[in-house]
Amino acid sequence: MTKMTEDSELKKIEKQKRGQLKNTKRIVVKVGTSTLTYPETGKLNLERIDKFAFELSDLVGQDKEIIFVTSAAIAAGLGQFGLSKRSERVEKNQAFAAIGQGMLMHIYEKIFSEYGQKIAQILLTKDANTVEHQRQNARAVLLELIAMKVIPIINENDAVVVDEIQIGDNDTLSAMVAKIVDADLLILLTDIDGVYTGNPRTNPNAKILNEINEVNSDVEQMAGGAGTSLGTGGMITKIRAAKEMLDARIPMVLAPGKESNIIHRILDGEEIGTLFEKR
Ligand code: GLU
Repeated sequence: MTKMTEDSELKKIEKQKRGQLKNTKRIVVKVGTSTLTYPETGKLNLERIDKFAFELSDLVGQDKEIIFVTSAAIAAGLGQFGLSKRSERVEKNQAFAAIGQGMLMHIYEKIFSEYGQKIAQILLTKDANTVEHQRQNARAVLLELIAMKVIPIINENDAVVVDEIQIGDNDTLSAMVAKIVDADLLILLTDIDGVYTGNPRTNPNAKILNEINEVNSDVEQMAGGAGTSLGTGGMITKIRAAKEMLDARIPMVLAPGKESNIIHRILDGEEIGTLFEKR
C-alpha cells in the first residue's frame, strides 16, 4: 500500500470511530476549572455552566446516562473572597473548596432545574478505587441515580484529601468514575483544543492530533506543562487519564470546553479535539 492510500485508509477508520460515538450511552463528562470560571476574576462562568446544563439535560432526554464531574469548588470559594489565585496553604484551599462546593451545587440546582433536570451531589476520594466496598457502594448509587434519570454531579471530597488537592485532579477522578460505572465514553472538556504535535505557542505548524491509540513516551512528552493558577492538573493528568482509559478500553475525547454545543458535536462524530481509543 502506498503512503497516500495508507493515510486515507487511516482517515476512514478514524471517521468511522468518531461516527460510533453517537451510539455511546453511559457517558462521563468532566469539565475543568478553567472552563467553568473566568480566569481574571475567578468567578463562575454562568453562561458556560448554563450551556453545559442544557446539553447534559438534553442528552438525558435522548435516553443517555450522564455523569458530570465538576471542578471549580476551590475557584468558587476563592471568588467569594475576591481572590483568583489558590493559597499556598492546603487547609486554606480545603476551606475554599468547602465554601465553593455548596455554592456550586446551589447554582447547578438552579440552572439544571430550569431544564427540568434532577441532579445529585456525590463527593468521592480515590478510596472509591482502592477500597473494594467503597467502589461497590459508589457504583451502586451511581447506577441507581442514572436509572432514575438523575445526573450525578461528582467532585473530589477536597476536605479529606491533601495530595489530590495539590496535584489536582479531577482528571484522574473522572477516569476512576468512568471505570467504576463501566462507562462507554469519557469526555474531558478543558481550555486546550486537544493534543498538539508540538507547542502551538512556539510552533505555528503544530497540529491537533485527531486520534491517539497509544500513550507512548512521544505523547507524554507532548503533554509536558502545568495547569492554571485556579485549576490544577494541566496536560499531564489528562494524558494519565487517557492511558487509564486506553487500558480499560473506554474511549476518551479531550476537547475544548469553550466551543458551543461541544458535547453534542462530539457525539455527532465531529472531528474535534483528540479521541483516545485503542485500534
Ligand atoms: N476538586 C477541585 C475543585 O473542585 C478541582 C481539582 C481540579 O482542578 O481538577 O476545585
